[in-house]
Amino acid sequence: MDTSGLAALDERIADCRACPRLVAWREETARAKRPAFADQAYWGRPVPGFGPPDARLLIVGLAPAAHGANRTGRMFTGDRSGDVLYEALYDLGLASQPTAVHADDGLELYGVRITAPVHCAPPANKPTPGERDACRPWLVRELELLRPTLRAAVALGAFGWQAALPAFGQAGWTTPRPRPAFAHGARVLLGDLDLFGCFHPSQRNTFTGRLTPAMLRDVLRTAARTAGLPTPAPG
Ligand code: SF4
Repeated sequence: MDTSGLAALDERIADCRACPRLVAWREETARAKRPAFADQAYWGRPVPGFGPPDARLLIVGLAPAAHGANRTGRMFTGDRSGDVLYEALYDLGLASQPTAVHADDGLELYGVRITAPVHCAPPANKPTPGERDACRPWLVRELELLRPTLRAAVALGAFGWQAALPAFGQAGWTTPRPRPAFAHGARVLLGDLDLFGCFHPSQRNTFTGRLTPAMLRDVLRTAARTAGLPTPAPG
């Protein structure tokens, strides 16, 4: 199979079965379903990145949600975290619509790609370090393919931050030693790319106000502008 392009990489990722625990979990979740989605066919496979191959900004999450991306087959699509994230991207002119309901809803991203360091839904949203490491080669390859245009990245949460830094290093960017700690609003220069930290738009963070819509927009706006993407002024 041709592995040279991002579309081909995405196809290969969707067929991966390297982590027995996650394969079992994603498939069992797809069989059992949540009652509200009982009439839907779940994706139940690894979820590839979403967005154009010449993206200038990459958003790195954690892993697909069991009844969100694991159901719809597209990153952050069909769950509350995605509702918050896509609304922010739309407000900043980086997405064609504010909602992400299913994979064929017509949503397009402008200059932005969204991926995750673990492509399969994990129990309790907690991949093991071994599963994170097993999935890293997919992220490294994705970064290598995006490298010609990629100029900024936002890691959503400490897991994404800690998984992304070594992947950026393996893909050829310069990473600082010791490895910088995650913080909301953190910014680290990796050669020709700026990595930003942002709290994950999980329900726990957004319901408690730890991450407000304004906080999320501020980080995304700064990262997008750093990457050379036009965004409207704060309103
Ligand atoms: Fe493959 Fe990554 Fe899923 Fe593990 S988490 S099975 S490495 S796609």
